[in-house]
Amino acid sequence: MRELRRLLGLDERYPVTVGSKPSMSQPMRNSTSSHFRRGIKGAALAALLIVLGLAPAPSDTGSGSDLLVDYLPAYPHQAYGYALAQTRAAETQAGRQWLAAAERALLVPQPVELPLRWRGRFEAEAADALGIQFDVEPPRQVIARLAVDGDSPVEVFLDLFRSTGQGIEHFVSAAPVAAADGAAFSRELRFDAFEPASYVVRLQSQMLRGASYELSIEVQAPLAFPVSGYDRRAIQSGFGADRDGGRRAHRGVDIFAARGTEAVAAMDAWVSRVETTRRGGNVIWLQPLFGNMRLYYAHLDEHLVEAGQFVAAGQRLGLVGNTGNAITTPPHLHFGVYLRRQGRRGGARDPMDFLY
Ligand SMILES: [Zn+2]
Repeated sequence: MRELRRLLGLDERYPVTVGSKPSMSQPMRNSTSSHFRRGIKGAALAALLIVLGLAPAPSDTGSGSDLLVDYLPAYPHQAYGYALAQTRAAETQAGRQWLAAAERALLVPQPVELPLRWRGRFEAEAADALGIQFDVEPPRQVIARLAVDGDSPVEVFLDLFRSTGQGIEHFVSAAPVAAADGAAFSRELRFDAFEPASYVVRLQSQMLRGASYELSIEVQAPLAFPVSGYDRRAIQSGFGADRDGGRRAHRGVDIFAARGTEAVAAMDAWVSRVETTRRGGNVIWLQPLFGNMRLYYAHLDEHLVEAGQFVAAGQRLGLVGNTGNAITTPPHLHFGVYLRRQGRRGGARDPMDFLY
């Protein structure tokens, strides 16, 4: 540990421990600032630790270890910074500048509006990193595309951080975009923003490597329309409408379509349940690979998938009908969107917000 302190030029007053494995969801609690632009001074060290991923876990007592072991970087940029420290490259001027640039990008990002199209260049001799900050009004799917053209073989790191009340937490990273000798390579990063949040994107190339890049970021509706060949005009009973004489509210939307029209997956997902119930008739539940979303399809005339199957957005699930308690109404798909929160029931959300 003392060795690492020396490599990083850290003062003994700052407790640093290694040994905890940071996870994607673990907030980097040593970011003392509750706002990105609260000035570098107090948060500079904290940010350096973020860069290197050496954030102490709250439970750590500070005794720590004297070895740079038992540490698993959570994303490629962090692994690269850690490797710099281990190889003593962090002691060099170029190393210090690279680390400082990474830190600056997080602490003083440039506010931008989406959609964004940003062309830039990292010069080999000038350590630099791009840091941009934007807000997302949920629910949206955010799509970041990065194209890199390297002067020589180079990897460019694309990392996304989320602002919370406690500071900045790492959210998701793309695999490094590797580019070589004038050949352009590109990468796409998609994520769902279902809660209001502010995000920071950091872009940085390996130390002493030049590259030109183009970064675009845009948002779109998170879900595809669930009935093939129809659109919002087919929705005739909206979210929150009275049901059972006002004793309950409609927890989805009804999409009216000809019997036998294909109901399709609104997103890439697992088919988690296929069943027949008294109220919903033939129903299907979907859930994505990650996250807490559930999609509910009801009153199907027929199921065309089985539980456990993986479906791509647009793939057919079943046929529109009027089974269950819809037996007296014209054929329609009851479509529900649920965002489950731990320890809470329900979570029904208005599907319209996710479709448009
Ligand atoms: Zn309904």
